[in-house]
Amino acid sequence: MTGISTNAIHASDEVNPVRDVIPPINVSTTYKYADNPDDLVKWSDMPEESSIIGNIFYSRITHPNSERVEKALESIVGGPSVAYSSGLGAFFAALTYFNPSIVCIGKGYHGCHSIIDIFTRLKGLKVIGLDDDLDQLNAGDLICLETPVNPDGTVFDIEYFAQKAHKKGAFLLIDSTFAPPPLQDPFKWGADMVLHSATKYLGGHSDLLAGVLVTNDDKVKNQLVTDRLALGTNIANLESYLLLRSLRTFELRITRQAENTEKLVKHLVKNRDSYPKLKKIYHSSLQTEAFVKKQLPNGYSPVFCIELDNESSAKEFPSKLRYFHHATSLGGVESLIEWRVLSDSTVSPTLLRVSVGAENADDLIADFDEALRS
Ligand SMILES: *Cc1c(COP(=O)(O)O)cnc(C)c1O
Repeated sequence: MTGISTNAIHASDEVNPVRDVIPPINVSTTYKYADNPDDLVKWSDMPEESSIIGNIFYSRITHPNSERVEKALESIVGGPSVAYSSGLGAFFAALTYFNPSIVCIGKGYHGCHSIIDIFTRLKGLKVIGLDDDLDQLNAGDLICLETPVNPDGTVFDIEYFAQKAHKKGAFLLIDSTFAPPPLQDPFKWGADMVLHSATKYLGGHSDLLAGVLVTNDDKVKNQLVTDRLALGTNIANLESYLLLRSLRTFELRITRQAENTEKLVKHLVKNRDSYPKLKKIYHSSLQTEAFVKKQLPNGYSPVFCIELDNESSAKEFPSKLRYFHHATSLGGVESLIEWRVLSDSTVSPTLLRVSVGAENADDLIADFDEALRS
């Protein structure tokens, strides 16, 4: 089997329609039909399976770089993939596809909860928590599990929730944004579908919005692509180009970012006594349950959280750092820190979320160390 980097750089070569080594940015929304009248096939005569992918004529449906992106993604995330205009576009598509009567979801990205609220308003979708009695689920219902979870990066046992779902004929959707490959493979533990906000690690440069749903079945991909045509949530032209650019360095970045995070967290834990304001550190590397190491065999998520002794320390802390921009989001090569209450109303005002970038680990450690001592 070829490695992630080889796939990320070469998997889309087979659907490269031009001689350019780097994909051209094509901004056209419409593409000419075949020149030869004999090659024109009526939409109604198209075999269902092949009517969309590969049939490029209008960019809401598909376009050259979105097809290349999906080929590259498939080779990285390990299953038929559908690209969207954002991570939430992908989550909306997943809920539309499964159309459950009951959804089970824990804490996690607030935007996903907002989409569930819309379904509750429209069709009375019932919501239960991960700790509730999961025997309430019926065939066709859905467990949405974000692991590692936003914002603190706690890891949940995918296999446990897969068994709970499948026992009742329900499905398991994993939001794996915080631990993309090679860190975590949710299908190995029984996931039915996997979501990534490609805005984060897959994109990695804080300059594109995109999402992806990964399935383990070509038929599901066909249905998702058909739905996407109607929902109007295909990944855009420019974003596809940017994401293809990003995927070429994806493995280098994610590996480096995971290593940097583990070093930084280790340093903070080891020197805790020197940081009187530091009250708590949350990171998947500090979790001791056996499934954590099993589920994340190649490194932990590059996101962690700290809590300081009070609200004003937390509010001031980002201004003391040199290499961590005070901004929301995560996954980019530049390190970020966020006083999380600025964008999330559900967390403690002493909480800071850190997204570790690809800078030199010693520089990041020195920066954090100095800020915590001051
Ligand atoms: C950012 C994020 C999303 C939403 O993705 P967008 O690309 O911003 O729409 C969903 N889930 C998680 C875990 C995220 O971090």
